[in-house]
Amino acid sequence: MSDTRASRFSALAMTACMCVAARAHAQTEPLQTEVRKRAATVEEKVIRWRRDIHEHPELADQETRTSRLVAEHLRGLGLEVRTGVARTGVLGVLRGARPGRTVALRADMDALPVKEPEGLPFASKARQAYLGKEVDVMHACGHDAHTAMLMGVAEVLAGMRDRLPGTVLFIFQPAEEGPSLFTPASGKKWGAKLMLEEGAFQDPRPEAVFGLHVMPGPLGQLSFRTGATAASSDDLEITVTGHQGHGGMPWNTIDPITTSALVISGLQTVVSRRANLTLSPAVVTIGTINGGTRANIVPDRVMMTGTIRTYDEKVRAQVDGDVARTAEHIAESSGAKAEVRITPMYATTVNDPALAAAMAPALRNAADGKVAESPLAGASEDFSFFAEAVPGLYVFLGVTPKDQDPEKAAPNHNPEFFVDEHALVVGVRTMGTLAVNFLGSPPATKEPAKAPRAFVHEDR
Ligand SMILES: [Zn+2]
Ligand SMILES: [Zn+2]
Repeated sequence: MSDTRASRFSALAMTACMCVAARAHAQTEPLQTEVRKRAATVEEKVIRWRRDIHEHPELADQETRTSRLVAEHLRGLGLEVRTGVARTGVLGVLRGARPGRTVALRADMDALPVKEPEGLPFASKARQAYLGKEVDVMHACGHDAHTAMLMGVAEVLAGMRDRLPGTVLFIFQPAEEGPSLFTPASGKKWGAKLMLEEGAFQDPRPEAVFGLHVMPGPLGQLSFRTGATAASSDDLEITVTGHQGHGGMPWNTIDPITTSALVISGLQTVVSRRANLTLSPAVVTIGTINGGTRANIVPDRVMMTGTIRTYDEKVRAQVDGDVARTAEHIAESSGAKAEVRITPMYATTVNDPALAAAMAPALRNAADGKVAESPLAGASEDFSFFAEAVPGLYVFLGVTPKDQDPEKAAPNHNPEFFVDEHALVVGVRTMGTLAVNFLGSPPATKEPAKAPRAFVHEDR
């Protein structure tokens, strides 16, 4: 379903779902209360795990220590555990004593090639291989918090097993940030996509999947949106080949440098003139350009890399096609040749409108009413693959300390990115509450809609 259709459906479905959501919410209230109580009792442990994981960050596909910690914890709770999924991923299955639906909860475990500044007593000093080079490693995207929170949720829900209706699948995913041991262009797979290929959703098969990401924002505030939430992303590589010669006699050369300048300018028209921006925003960025060795030599080639982002699969396909055609034909007009390689990375992350509407009361309960609509995220997420397989909901949790302005807080991936640990208990409550609320809800029925509204938070 395209995002436009999705958001139209979203407006209808949300209205239809409100009374169902309220009913389900009321039915599962005792379970939600129990989640809140138990979340408070695991808070200290979650903070300890988070600090431990933060001090020992691991890059994509190298999360061996982290996944061992997770697997041991899940086994200790009596869950069925599968390790080595997508190399270092862990799956845990918790079967409630009462019959019911199946829900998946996902956390990502990998860190980034970022050097952590000194300061925190548990600051990282870790170094690991990144594409053949030794680099400093830091949890600069908060996946340490995600892993610790989901370990806490597992403990909370395992403690309620006797009262739990249905099954919870815990997904501890590697390599969300992209591979660290090979390049995406190598054709190898990683992360969520590989976990699905290795049967993550086969037995048990979840009916919904929830994910949560920490980010700068008011402390403990949840935010989400329906429909498209995070961008699709494609890696772009362009090689412009000309003919080398003397810089004083350019007429004897084919200049890939001037050609590349034309290509870059031309690519700006792909979004501004060709993409239907009423369907989806789009971005084409050239991030690197390399060519030439000396002032008076016209080189024989220039290499460029970049990224393409959209929020709609149709727009994505069109932009990808236009980028390739524009680069190739501009190069041809200069007598040069452009080879364009576009490597699909992540799909658009789409929040299922009906699921989002049904879960809105649970989110408000978990965050004590602090729920906001999130803007479109320019980043991309491979949670998108889980949410393509079954209805998904991806929410953000604000982790900026109370005395700081979230607008000025360092963003994810910045070495100064900071997680205020007071938010962690809200994250545990959120994922736990979503799980019990979903498990206790009847499967969705397609009720006819009344007044469509674009985005609704009840009581907001
Ligand atoms: Zn990240
Ligand atoms: Zn992240």
